[in-house]
Parts: sequence; C-alpha cells; structure tokens
Amino acid sequence: DREIHVIGGGLAGSEAAWQIAASGVPVVLHEMRPVRKTDAHQTDGLAEMVCSNSFRSDDAEYNAVGLLHEEMRRCGSLIIRCADLHKVPAGGALAVDRDAFSKAVSEALENHPLVTLVREEVAGLPPDDWDNVIVATGPLTSPALAEAVRELTGEESLAFFDAIAPIVHTESIDLSKAWFQSRYDKPGPGGTGKDYINCAMDRDQYQAFIQALIDAPKTDFKEWEKNTPYFEGCLPIEVMASRGIDTLRYGPMKPVGLTNPHTGTRSHAIVQLRQDNALGTLYNLVGFQTKMKYADQTRVFRMIPGLENAEFARLGGLHRNTFLNSPKLLDGQMRLKAMLRLRFAGQVTGVEGYVESAAMGLLTGRFAAADRTGQVCPNPPPTTALGALLSHITGGAEAETFQPMNVNFGLFPDLDGKIKGRDRKLAYTRRALSDLGGWLGTRQAAE
Ligand code: FAD
Repeated sequence: DREIHVIGGGLAGSEAAWQIAASGVPVVLHEMRPVRKTDAHQTDGLAEMVCSNSFRSDDAEYNAVGLLHEEMRRCGSLIIRCADLHKVPAGGALAVDRDAFSKAVSEALENHPLVTLVREEVAGLPPDDWDNVIVATGPLTSPALAEAVRELTGEESLAFFDAIAPIVHTESIDLSKAWFQSRYDKPGPGGTGKDYINCAMDRDQYQAFIQALIDAPKTDFKEWEKNTPYFEGCLPIEVMASRGIDTLRYGPMKPVGLTNPHTGTRSHAIVQLRQDNALGTLYNLVGFQTKMKYADQTRVFRMIPGLENAEFARLGGLHRNTFLNSPKLLDGQMRLKAMLRLRFAGQVTGVEGYVESAAMGLLTGRFAAADRTGQVCPNPPPTTALGALLSHITGGAEAETFQPMNVNFGLFPDLDGKIKGRDRKLAYTRRALSDLGGWLGTRQAAE
C-alpha cells in the first residue's frame, strides 16, 4: 500500500493520521514545528491546544459538542481517548492537562508502526506524486502553503480573518415583534421578498443599544493579530457604534425599505437577520461581527426587540483565521474540486474549535483510507453531529456569507413532531447515536 500524506500535526491532522493507520494504511505526517513556528503554538508537541484546555461540554444527551465527543469515542478517536485519559476536574466539561494530552497523542502516533512523522514545512502545493493528501494546517497555515492554495482556488476563496456575526436559533425569535421582509420587498436570486427577519427599534431603544455596545467589555486582539489590515470591510459593530450615534443607522441598521407590519410604521433603526443554513433553523445578525465578550454579547443582543429570549447557536468574533470557502470549493467528501487528490480537514475547512477540527480530521482520515484501499466510506448521516457538521460545510451553508461554525443542534435536520426544550435535545442526541450505530455497522460490513 502506498502511503497517504497528512500535512499538519494539530488536532485535525493527528486524528486523521490515526484513523488512517487504524485502517491499516501507512501514513506520513508532516508537521513544521519546531522547524518553523506559528504565532500561537508554544511547543513542538502534536495536537497542541493553543488557548483554552477545554473540549467544552461532555454531556452527550443535551449538548451538541458532548454528542460529538461521544460519536468520536465510538469511532475510535485518538483525540478523545487521550482527552479522557488526561482529563482534569471541570464540572460537566471535558478539560485536560494539555501537556500530558499532547504527549499522549504524540506518543501514540510516534509508536504506531504505520505512522512516519516528518518535521518539515510543506511550503507550497504538495508534490505531484502525493496522490492522496490531507491538508490540516489550521488557522495559522504557513504563508507559503496558504498562498499556493489561494492561487489555485482564487482570491475570494481563502480568508485570512473570520468576521463572525452571532447566529440565533430561528425558533427563539419572537415573531410577534419581528417580521419577515426583504428591503423594498426585493426577492433577490431564489428569494421570496421575505428573506430577512427584521427587528425594529424606536429612538430610545436605539440610543440605549448604542451605549450598551460602546460600554460592553471587549476581547483584545493578540499582538500578532493587530498588524493585519482586515478592518474596513468588516468593522466590529462596537467600533462602528463608537464612530457616531447615527453610524449604524446609516450602515447595517438602516431602516429604509422596511415597514413594521405590527405597527404599520417606519422605524428609527432595524436589525436584520439573514438565513444561515439551508434548513432555515439558523439566522445571523447581518453586519454584527464583534469583539465583545461572550456574556456581554448575550446581554446586549437580547436588548433587540424580538430577541429578548434569543438562543445563540454561536456568538460573534473576529480573529486571524485561515479558512476556505468550503461550501463552494469542497465536494461531499472534503476533496478540493480543483485538485481531487487534496482533502482538507480541521479549522481550515471553516469549522471552529478543537473538537470540530478533530472531528473533520476523523472523517477525512476515514475517507482517504477507504479511497486508498479501493473502498468507499459513505458519509455519516446528517442526523449525527459528525454528519451535520460535514453537510453544513460542504453544502448546507451559504457560500456567499460563509463563516466558521461550531457544532450545534441548529445544524441537525428537524425532528418530526413538536418536541420542545430539553426533550428536543435528548431526541436529537438519541436519534444521532442510533443513526451513527447504523453508519458504523454498514461500514464494517463493507470492509
Ligand atoms: P492546528 O491545531 O493549528 O494544527 C495545524 C498544524 O499544522 C500546526 O501544528 C502547524 O504547525 C501545522 N502547519 C501549518 N502549516 C504547515 C505547513 N505548511 N506544513 C506543515 N505543517 C504546517 N479552539 C477551541 O476550541 N478553543 C480555544 O480556546 C481556541 N483558541 C484558539 C486560539 C488561537 C490563537 C487560535 C488561532 C485558534 C484557537 N482555537 C480554539 C481554534 C481551533 O480550534 C484551534 O486552532 C485548533 O487547534 C484547530 O485545529 P487544526 O488541527 O485545524 O489546526
């Protein structure tokens, strides 16, 4: 068997390499550290956690990331196994001793007879004779490789910053206050003239909101993030607010072309939310990328009429982050359409977070290994956390406004019936684990 090449020994690449080796296929893992460093990594260990030491909630019944942990456990994930082995007390979260965790991942891979670890930067597109490659080079992909990918895919297709506007679960929006309407009722391509959800403010509400944006505590940019001129196209909402009381009213919150059907009047300012996924279960606040701290985002955004009880599928952010426009560029099995021998995995595919990155490594590892042995590994069902994330980044998300995504129940196909609240989460997770069992079963039978 000829080897598969994995570029990047972070959370995603380490998991991908493990899954490949576990399928009996040899793998070469190329990691540039310590030969070449990134701005965030501190060590030369594989799967280094660059910031928090938490994989977030481990509750597999009521939490989507906890469910993802459990699915990965059932798929023999190296990352979750090492996390379980080195966990530290953290309530319901799966948090780890980061050094012991990284050491365990490194040792497992170094000691596996089918894994070869090479410490080198792949400084451009991989050589032509690497016919089965996984690129898992993360949010800080080295410039030489990023530029080569950008040349191949086009200027607009690889971003160097994310600008994440908060995303709300549609069902938590109060439609007795908010309403569906496109500006000037324009249908737009494929639209109905009712493509946006609108939330109106009067003068007092607007002024209080602007003040709250200005006053809220913000997260600082890291020193190395400050030099990149990403700003004017995607200013944080609070920076716009601080430029003058009416700046937002003439920008993302302009009220023109919209009439509040509940009052029949024009409004002083309007927040628009745009559909975020094909399922219609998620809407994002248009233009609301922000560096406000998470707790403050929830408090301030719930001041918006209609969002008083909003549940956030993800909060806003703005970071240095290299990621592809995956819905446009990748096929259903994470292959780059423009060069099918390359698969992408991890944060660079537009998922967000350690667990999500490792999860995409797990899937690409399995897909690549199946290819090498002349088999097909079917996609996991979209009702599983693995499948829901995969379908989101490879097609469910809107390519035009694509921004990185955490796993959340809004990505799952709706349940039959009207199950609500906690019961609904339980129904999602039960369905997921049952369908995952079916998927693992089919795959084993096919092998
Ligand atoms: P990484 O873990 O970064 O792995 C990529 C690897 O590829 C690195 O080891 C790098 O050295 C290597 N590499 C890059 N280019 C090349 C090349 N050309 N050749 C060879 N090797 C190369 N997520 C969370 O869940 N919680 C957090 O607290 C968190 N904090 C973050 C803080 C920062 C500063 C950043 C940038 C991201 C953070 N993330 C966080 C987001 C993300 O989940 C992590 O970055 C995660 O490590 C992504 O996994 P990955 O495998 O895709 O990338």
